[in-house]
Amino acid sequence: MSRRRLVYEGKAKILYEGPEPGTLIQYFKDDATAFNAQKKGTISGKGVLNNRISEHIFTLLGTIGIPTHFIRRLNMREQLIRQVEIVPIEVVVRNVAAGTLSTRLGIEEGTQLPRTIIEYYYKDDALNDPMIADEHIAAFGWATREEMDDIADMAIRVNDFLCGLFAGIGIRLVDFKLEFGRLWENDFARIILADEISPDGCRLWDMTTNEKLDKDRFRRDLGGEAEAYQEVARRLGLLKEGEPNAVLDMAEHRQKRGK
Ligand code: C5P
Repeated sequence: MSRRRLVYEGKAKILYEGPEPGTLIQYFKDDATAFNAQKKGTISGKGVLNNRISEHIFTLLGTIGIPTHFIRRLNMREQLIRQVEIVPIEVVVRNVAAGTLSTRLGIEEGTQLPRTIIEYYYKDDALNDPMIADEHIAAFGWATREEMDDIADMAIRVNDFLCGLFAGIGIRLVDFKLEFGRLWENDFARIILADEISPDGCRLWDMTTNEKLDKDRFRRDLGGEAEAYQEVARRLGLLKEGEPNAVLDMAEHRQKRGK
């Protein structure tokens, strides 16, 4: 048997050739990076949790008519996806001020934004993923105006859906990042949602305590990142009660750290 072909290795995922043409296998690693990979580490079990969380969210989005690259989960760390041509733009949706929006504009973290803001960043590690405007996207041909309309519409629909989903489990969706791809059918390309949706690319705050349940725990050296990801999975109903690694332990973690 020959080894499967590696198509692309990113910071948190690996893509392998899929079993049929037009498919890929997306493998979720435990590796965590921040600040364009200047900070590196691992979050034990993250890949397994993100695979499961992303499967769940993409499946739900499919039921409300958002086309996604997700086909099915294959095992603990892998899912089968449709091969797309990734649009080289990171789409960030923000509901509450945090992260680079707060530092760039001097708005205190946690401030509810008067309206949802969509930002675009050019996917280029060498340039540090710079923020760009629609004008750059059109001028440099990274996506057509029509594609950008589809992307913005989908981003808003995903945000509305996810805000409700997370609010229902006591989590505030502060902001998140989406990626889109072109699915080619003969000479026509359709925009579909790609990549993943997981605590790696979202800011998720507990609604009552404001506890961070996302990658900011790693970025900001807060500790308890694996427990935070588990807590998100548990609240989404993805961990069986009584499973050894299914314990919520933010409370215990706080106690251990004396906070
Ligand atoms: O760092 P910043 O505040 O711009 O991030 C906004 C949102 O986008 C956060 O939820 C962050 O996790 C996500 N993001 C990401 N990948 C990047 C940049 C931001 O997932 N390269």
